[in-house]
Amino acid sequence: MRADFPDFRLGKVLATSFTGTLSERHGDAVERIPTPHRLVDWLAVNGLAVDSCTPAQLDLARELRESIHAAATAAAIRDTLPAPAVQVINDRSVQGRAAAILTPEGERRWRLSSASRVEDALGVIAADAISIIAGERDGKLALCASPTCQAAFFDTSQSRTRKWCDMNTCGNRQKKARFNANHRKSTRSAE
Ligand SMILES: [Zn+2]
Repeated sequence: MRADFPDFRLGKVLATSFTGTLSERHGDAVERIPTPHRLVDWLAVNGLAVDSCTPAQLDLARELRESIHAAATAAAIRDTLPAPAVQVINDRSVQGRAAAILTPEGERRWRLSSASRVEDALGVIAADAISIIAGERDGKLALCASPTCQAAFFDTSQSRTRKWCDMNTCGNRQKKARFNANHRKSTRSAE
């Protein structure tokens, strides 16, 4: 019954797409990788296909996800990076053995050391997180303005003024809320 699972939010940045597999952290949280199989699905969508995933590997993945979330949040507000989160990110990065492969078409692909090495995929995600938290890439870490979300996202807009982690979800909801509030105000003043 895979159709019953929540959809993935697809972003352009691997590490923050990954942290987005848990959304609404400050509201009614939505777990988008509730089972090992959904992690397999998510990895496939993100160019890190594996054959299988154990519950222990899913635990590792979720631990990495929350560590990236904690470190990216601290980086976004220019706070000290939490040491335990940094440790987890580094451990996952060190233990990954994926290789970057250049295709004849000039694209980068990841080759995992074996088809069941979820750890390799997590290493790629950890390295991606390191590159954005370390400020190596063109963009800025920011926190989503939605109070129930507050997800850390990587703003690559030219003005660096993006407010929401995702325009289609948080951005839209906020716009609707504002519209409804204005609407209520105008109907009240018409009375
Ligand atoms: Zn958001």
